[in-house]
Amino acid sequence: MQTLRLTAEQVETAAEILRRGGLLGIPTETVYGLGANGLDAGAVGRIFAAKGRPQDNPLILHIPSADWLERYCEDIPPSAYALAERFWPGPLTMILRHKPIVPDAVTAGLDTVGMRCPAHPVCRAIIAAAGVPVAAPSGNTSGRPSPTNMADMLEDMDGKIDGIVDGGPCAVGVESTIIDLTCVPPRLLRPGGITLEQLREVLGEVAVDPAVTRLMGEGEKPRAPGMKYRHYAPKAPVTVVQGAPAAAARYIQDHMAPGDGVICFDEYAGLFDGHPLEQLGPSTDVPEQARRVFDALRWFDGTDVQQIWAQCPEAAGIGLAVANRLNKAAGFHIVQAE
Ligand code: AMP
Ligand code: MG
Repeated sequence: MQTLRLTAEQVETAAEILRRGGLLGIPTETVYGLGANGLDAGAVGRIFAAKGRPQDNPLILHIPSADWLERYCEDIPPSAYALAERFWPGPLTMILRHKPIVPDAVTAGLDTVGMRCPAHPVCRAIIAAAGVPVAAPSGNTSGRPSPTNMADMLEDMDGKIDGIVDGGPCAVGVESTIIDLTCVPPRLLRPGGITLEQLREVLGEVAVDPAVTRLMGEGEKPRAPGMKYRHYAPKAPVTVVQGAPAAAARYIQDHMAPGDGVICFDEYAGLFDGHPLEQLGPSTDVPEQARRVFDALRWFDGTDVQQIWAQCPEAAGIGLAVANRLNKAAGFHIVQAE
């Protein structure tokens, strides 16, 4: 299959791909997504095939406004509208009970569905023009770090999808925050651009799913099916080094072998001369770290490093999301400097 390269102006061509059941690489403010008509079970099935995604890992339905929630969801709590009012369009996915119209292919047979209204103007224009909800996971091959620009997505999907729209680099860089509103208190399933602190301002108490901060044990049943899979991982094993930035950098210097790779804050790049290196951004600029983290992880797959060491921000604000992606890429192999 030839994958069409579309510009941000070719909204009608992109919408037509979705309407006729095709697969579309679609820019969002979080990461690039692999979209299909969310009401067309056949089209949704092709998403799983293109990604090599396990069938029991559900997708998110993307809609142009909160008005569309009632079309696909039932028992919608007032908190959903309060969150939509504050954070939509934006990087927040709500888990709600779905109506029968939503195909099992989207929900993996669950009685709930993930709903999001994205903020990227090109993405919104395409969804509105298509006139259908767009089911989409991230546009990477299953298991790899998510793509945050068109070139990264083409690396995984060229020849496997009908088209891809260039919407520039993603402004957030990590996938949406996922909040489950079907339980009391609401539960954070995945940290992202909307922070836990922001959610608590609207919702009061919010539980954090244990899978956000640690590896699920043998026989433990994760709340969201996707949580049990290895994720975001480069080919080489990753070790995350936590602690104050200077101490963590020193720890890496002391423990690394010749040829090991390193992901570090900009201030410490000079310590690792001769090592394959990716800079995460200034230690104080966590939004920049979020924009760079997936590209940094992906870059090492083009090298022959045997091992990667990574500095990591504090798990607060959007740092919770960056730390979560790094820790998952490391299979929660985390050491503490000091
Ligand atoms: P991705 O953004 O590529 O990771 O794919 C969508 C994410 O949303 C996955 O982590 C899914 O497990 C999660 N998700 C989608 N629908 C649901 C649902 N009904 N309940 C819990 N998690 C969901
Ligand atoms: Mg994904």
